[in-house]
Amino acid sequence: MAVPFRRTSKTRKRQRRSHLRMEIPGMVKCPDCGEMKLSHRICKNCGSYKGETVIEKK
Ligand SMILES: [Zn+2]
Repeated sequence: MAVPFRRTSKTRKRQRRSHLRMEIPGMVKCPDCGEMKLSHRICKNCGSYKGETVIEKK
């Protein structure tokens, strides 16, 4: 059986696994501005929820 020549470093291991992470749950695109936001929450970018502007921009 083949044996690894070198021990895989922490950085190498983490770089390899950087693609394995799951997408952040509950993140959806805002229908108003297209920014990523948490679902069932007011959009942080444009302050809209359910097509209505809840928070006015300053
Ligand atoms: Zn938005």
